[in-house]
Amino acid sequence: MQYLPIFTQVSNRKILVVGGGNVALRKARTLVNANAKVTLLAPEFCNETTDFIAQHQLTKVIDVFSPEHLSGYVLVIAATDNEAVNQAVYDAANARDMFVNVVDDTKRSTFIFPSIVDRDPITIAISSAGKAPVLARRLREKLETFIPQHIGALATLVGGFRDQVKNKINGFAARRQFWERVFNSQVVSKVAKGQIEAAQHDLKNMLDAPESDDKGEVYIVGGGPGNPDLLTLRALQLMQQADVVVYDRLISPKVLDLVRRDAELISVGKKAGFHSVPQEQINTMLVELAQQGHKVCRLKGGDPFIFGRGGEEIEELVQHNIPFQVVPGITAAAGCAAYAGIPLTHRDYAQSVEFVTGHCQPNGMPVNWQAMARENHTLVIYMGVMKSPEIADALLTHGRDANTPVAIIEKGSTSQQRVVTGTLAQLPSMAADNHIGSPALVIVGEVVSLRNTCQWFEAAGAQTGQGMAEDLTA
Ligand code: SAH
Repeated sequence: MQYLPIFTQVSNRKILVVGGGNVALRKARTLVNANAKVTLLAPEFCNETTDFIAQHQLTKVIDVFSPEHLSGYVLVIAATDNEAVNQAVYDAANARDMFVNVVDDTKRSTFIFPSIVDRDPITIAISSAGKAPVLARRLREKLETFIPQHIGALATLVGGFRDQVKNKINGFAARRQFWERVFNSQVVSKVAKGQIEAAQHDLKNMLDAPESDDKGEVYIVGGGPGNPDLLTLRALQLMQQADVVVYDRLISPKVLDLVRRDAELISVGKKAGFHSVPQEQINTMLVELAQQGHKVCRLKGGDPFIFGRGGEEIEELVQHNIPFQVVPGITAAAGCAAYAGIPLTHRDYAQSVEFVTGHCQPNGMPVNWQAMARENHTLVIYMGVMKSPEIADALLTHGRDANTPVAIIEKGSTSQQRVVTGTLAQLPSMAADNHIGSPALVIVGEVVSLRNTCQWFEAAGAQTGQGMAEDLTA
């Protein structure tokens, strides 16, 4: 290890920054965040630095650096663009055995600033020992996405209980076990939901009755249209947290790859028109798993509240008093439209968009074809490929123009995406003629023609007639 990572307490300690430009300002900002008493020294200062000094009541010394300036400081940072000055600061600091950092110059630094992930009081510092700062920064970005914002609040809450736990629970191992239980409990979810007082209450209860059972929880998570890039940060976090994942057929293998390695995976393989596990059974399964104390991720395609039966699952959870969270996902309409280059609304083509399902409940609510068939209106049909002949027929009967452009998007947003376009008159045979597989979405409306301009995504590995757009109107 070339550098020893230590976290230093600099609050109210004097630190000197030599320099008056933007680099010096950047360093001053970091130091002020850690409550250091910062002095900036330079013969002249840029306006931004001057403002910052005034705003934070820092000390400003207008002078050319000389070794005497170092007296009284615990650290010094050289942040000038003048090599000679930087060298002078380095030499003077070394002569006094003082730690020094010359910005972007590891050779003349006896300490360096790491990349930081800041979830105060949790702080993660990353360094490549000056070898690959960009790599360190990328790592930081990765961590930023994985580590939820509420982790700081959680650490603060837990910090408030440390002494009480120490007094009440004897032995390091027992205390550790207690904390493990806390971090697997509702306390974490409650902090995530901003319910700090309730979390505090739970923690106190756990401390008063350390042996009591902890209930599980269900995360109803939208997994998006299939491309893992389209998962939300929250979806990813909860996929990593859950110890059981109950997923639909729509969940692509690439998305499934991102769940916690040791999580139990349960497929409930739902497919349009065919439920390999009936919905009631899924509902019961979720309740039972949570009652056994599991953190269950119910991973659903697209968005859980759009033709996803998320509502039905929640009703069952509520009946059994099971805590839950809901994470929205990118619904197929939004995902497919974006990746097919079809803006669902456009001032000149469609002022409204409607999401409908081709699969209605038997004896379901009557369909208002008249409203659906109106001009300058975009219709997105989920689970509609099999019924596309009947749908086209009904729209035409209710006055929609036979030349209205339509698109069928298969496996939208993924590397196997296929887009087939045509007209409403052609819709009945489009799916069969092009061997459209599942899942596929139908879009009807003038906006489909915008694909000619807005198309940007070509599925990788596309071959002629497969993975390529085919325009039947051509
Ligand atoms: N809750 C989901 C929809 C579930 S219904 C959502 O919000 O997207 C299942 C239907 O969604 C499929 O029959 C298909 O019409 C559509 N669908 C889902 N993912 C799709 C994809 N990647 N490409 C095309 N259609 C998709």
